[in-house]
Amino acid sequence: MLARRARLTTISSGSTDLKRSAGREAMEATTEPRTLSDGITAKINAFVERRDGLKAANRYFYLQPIAGQTNHRVPMADGRDMVMLASYSYLGLIGHPRIDAAAHEAIETYGTGAGGVRLLTGTMDLHERLERRLAEFSHREDACVYSSGYVTNIAIITGLMGPGDLVVMDKLDHASIVDGCLLSGSKWKTYRHNDMDHLEKILSDAENEYNTILVVADSVFSMDGDVMDLPRVRELCDRYGARLMVDEAHSIGSLGATGHGIEEHFDMIGSIDLKMGTLSKSIPSVGGYLAARHDIVDYQRHMSRPFIFSAALPPAQTAAAIAALDVIEEEPWRVKQLHDVTARYSEGLKAQGWDTMRSTTCVVPVMVGDEAKTMDLTRMLFDRGIFVCPIVHPAVPRGTDRLRTCLMATHTTEDIDQVLDAFSVAGKALGLI
Ligand code: PMP
Repeated sequence: MLARRARLTTISSGSTDLKRSAGREAMEATTEPRTLSDGITAKINAFVERRDGLKAANRYFYLQPIAGQTNHRVPMADGRDMVMLASYSYLGLIGHPRIDAAAHEAIETYGTGAGGVRLLTGTMDLHERLERRLAEFSHREDACVYSSGYVTNIAIITGLMGPGDLVVMDKLDHASIVDGCLLSGSKWKTYRHNDMDHLEKILSDAENEYNTILVVADSVFSMDGDVMDLPRVRELCDRYGARLMVDEAHSIGSLGATGHGIEEHFDMIGSIDLKMGTLSKSIPSVGGYLAARHDIVDYQRHMSRPFIFSAALPPAQTAAAIAALDVIEEEPWRVKQLHDVTARYSEGLKAQGWDTMRSTTCVVPVMVGDEAKTMDLTRMLFDRGIFVCPIVHPAVPRGTDRLRTCLMATHTTEDIDQVLDAFSVAGKALGLI
């Protein structure tokens, strides 16, 4: 086809026409659909086959369309009202009138966008207020805010670590910590999950071999629901001259008697060198932050690439985060209620015979150990009005496929009873309990 078109255009041409026709031919050549068979094609084909296989087997649960606010119940686009058991909004603050009002007011005052990066386009007083509030909430001198928790981990590790340095992380740390190491050019090693002997071995082997050693751990592990061993990790960092960074994504609002996180939980306020958190889980907004000593935070404000090259948080989300921190401190009953709901639910599951692994928090995994059965269990729970999330390989090692369930302070006794009933019926039908 291409060859025929080219011949037709050149038959009656002088040299100028010939050039034009060659140009047109090149254009046509690039717009003709071409089928490449390379690594991308192979990846896409494998994905499409897996996705379509799951859909055909009625085992596809991702990207579920939601029609309204997510709280302990959630309105689905197909009209169903489900119990939400997959949200990170642990304190149930989405839609809190005071937080919504703060966001509305910020839009009225500032509009919807920040207009660029803070270093060059201007820092709003709202951003400064949020950073002061986060510093105070975290018991630190200063805090700086980034556009997401994911970006914050990358910003901290790439900002402070580089070639010649070593990052030592728990095997189950969040992907953004791994990505930060990859981008930073530093060396990185993982220790077996919460295995302090292994961490010590790595630190003792690394002593005097690197300029800087940074140990990084999640405070609450998001797939297992257990807690890092802060006392032992701190002790090992002191013994081997390492700094300590902790990702508090799942502990703010959920750990400690008043929801201030892992340091409150262990009564070790001030023990973490670099505290990282997100504004998108218990705090119903978006963004992430580093809370630390003022000189480190101000260095990051001027030197870390995601702060320099990425736009500031929008005003509404900034104001919402400030209001949420106030609400968490002024409504401590939410944290207590979250702990009570979690205890009631976890005990109920264990009494039915389910394995909830080492969870001691509001993130409660339900171990199934088989991908197909995990999907079948999810389907049966979905059909009984429970919104849950299957976690299968490669997100977790093969043979540890599970559901990850998350509690909220706002779950009612009726919600929990409905969930436990559904687990009982589905577990028995599938021979899992
Ligand atoms: N750290 C941990 C432990 C997380 O679970 C997540 C999000 N799932 C993040 C960081 C990233 O946070 P964000 O969603 O705000 O980007």
